[in-house]
Parts: sequence; structure tokens; C-alpha cells
Amino acid sequence: MKRLTLTLIILCLAILPSSAPSATINGQNYVPITAWAKANGLRCAWLKRGDVLAATNRNTRLVFDKDSRMAEINGINVVLSYPVASDKGVLLAARMDLDSTVRLLMSPSGYLKPDPIKTICLDPGHGGKDTGNHTFWRSEKTYTLALALELRDQLKRAGFSVILTRSKDTFVDLPNRPALANRRGADLFVSLHFNATKAAHDQVQGPETYCITPVGASSSNAQGEGANYGATPANRCESRSLLLAYQMEKALVQNLGVPDRGVPRARFAVLRDATMPAILIECGYMTHPAERKRIYSAAYRQRMAQAIVKGVLAYQKLTSPQRARPGSMASGSGSRAEAAAKPARSR
Ligand SMILES: [Zn+2]
Repeated sequence: MKRLTLTLIILCLAILPSSAPSATINGQNYVPITAWAKANGLRCAWLKRGDVLAATNRNTRLVFDKDSRMAEINGINVVLSYPVASDKGVLLAARMDLDSTVRLLMSPSGYLKPDPIKTICLDPGHGGKDTGNHTFWRSEKTYTLALALELRDQLKRAGFSVILTRSKDTFVDLPNRPALANRRGADLFVSLHFNATKAAHDQVQGPETYCITPVGASSSNAQGEGANYGATPANRCESRSLLLAYQMEKALVQNLGVPDRGVPRARFAVLRDATMPAILIECGYMTHPAERKRIYSAAYRQRMAQAIVKGVLAYQKLTSPQRARPGSMASGSGSRAEAAAKPARSR
């Protein structure tokens, strides 16, 4: 993303609490990370001078890379909406990324209005004539369904009601999947997929957990699916979806010991019309020789389902009504907007 540093337009006079200048880059308001960190109780140190910056305090460790959209937030990779830029040796990040994505994930507790979770809609990717990825004679649709059925049983044992967008090898149109979740008043929507890659297929492995792209930002996926920059129904609860995606990626990486491919953002058809927190998990790569062996194993899928349940429970812990404290809402604009825009699910 070197073009962004080339298109650095102007230093303007917007003032941070620490009096550091902000900048407008490609139409986005950027602020020096050190100044933002100081204002948020974090101390910065270079991990690689001029290129990699860490911002830390007792509870938080953030790592930002020059020209990269990937930031590390407490050990988990999260894709920012805009790449980190550099100006005269100072790293800058988009204010929108810092004030919504980073701040929310740094201290989610109390940031979002509590919300009980009763019903979870599971969406096994593909089905019927839509086989999904094909690796040798194996089809993605087979394993997404097998994982969903295992996960359904585990979630029920954990006390949740579960609905499925398909429970057999049947074709379901993409728009019908979130539509079912909306109609049935599901509290969470979890779409399950397995990934594939042509390049470096014997190296690329691990899960990635998608959630909706913020309004105005471009998506992380190469195809930029649905890449108009407007609001989708899913943007009404994008902070919750981000928190769910983050907790899910963390649970998968920590419990399965697999590489962290991060939390990217995309306007996938199954995500953009969901009116509840919604994520799409690419649970691993069918093109990776070792990972696909695990994916084809019922015992490993059982462990994967256990990790996904842990992700749901971690999210629930951070957003459950028991955590409600009057006046405990943080002052971030994202939380206020989201609390006000809590979707009417029966619509
Ligand atoms: Zn898929």
C-alpha cells in the first residue's frame, strides 16, 4: 500500500489531546499512533524502528506495521480498514480504525449494550449442486455440514437453541440463509466454510473469521465482494459482529494451536443481510496437506466445534446482561450508534 504514502495530501490542524497533527490520506483522517496511544493510556516502543510499533499497557498489546492493514490486538491479527501510513518516520493509522476497531477490541467489556443469546443460526456453507471447494474427490459442502451437525449438538448441550440453514446435502440460495436467521429471530449467525488456495498450498493453513466491512471501507477479500461502500443491514450491529469474530478467531487459534489468519472484513452475501451479530469462519485450508487430513477427521471436527463453542461463550461473557452496569457504556461513537440502532429483528 505504498501508494497511500505517496498520496499523503496535507497535514491539517486537527489537534489530538497530545497536540499531535493529524493527516488526511486518501480522504481518511489519520492520526499519529503514538499520540492516540498516549491519549488511551498506552506507551509506544519500536519493535523495528520506523516500521513496526508496539503500544502497550498492563492489559493491552497492540502492534502496527507500516504500510500494512494487519494489526495485532492482544495476540490476534485483525485486518484494519485502512493501511498504517508513515510520514517522516511517524506511523499514522486511520482514526476510524483506532476509535472503532482497535478501541472496541482493546476493552470490549462495558462497551456494548448487553444482549442475551438464546438462539444461534448455523449456516453450513454450500450444499447440493454447489459443492464449494473441491480437493481431489472431497467437497467442501460435505465437511461444512458435518462440522455444523457436530457444532449443533455441542451448542445444544451448552444450553443454546440452534437452527440450521440446511441439515442435508441440499442447495440453499445465499440470500435465504441470513433471511432464515432474521425470520427466526436468531441472536447470532455463524456461517461455516473451509478454504482453498492455489498459491503456496502446502504452507497456507489456519482459520480466518470474517465479519461485515464498515461503511465506506473496502473489503479485505481479494474479490471485494459486494464492494459498494454503502451501509448494509449488517452494519447496524457491526461492532458486535467484530467482537464475535475476534473472540472466535482467538478461540480457534488458542484451542487448536493453528496459525492465525486473522479477522478480515467482507460484504459476503450471507453476512450483509443478517440483522444480528454475524460471522463467516473459514475453518481451515482443504488445500494444505496436513490441515485437510485434520478437517476430514471427525475427532478433529469435534475439537473444532469445541473451540467454536468457546468462542461463543467468550463473546457471551463480554456481552451478557449480567455485565450491565447503569452508565457503563463507553463514550465511543460506535457503541452509542449501535445501541441506538439495535435492529428490530422481526422487520
Ligand atoms: Zn465455502
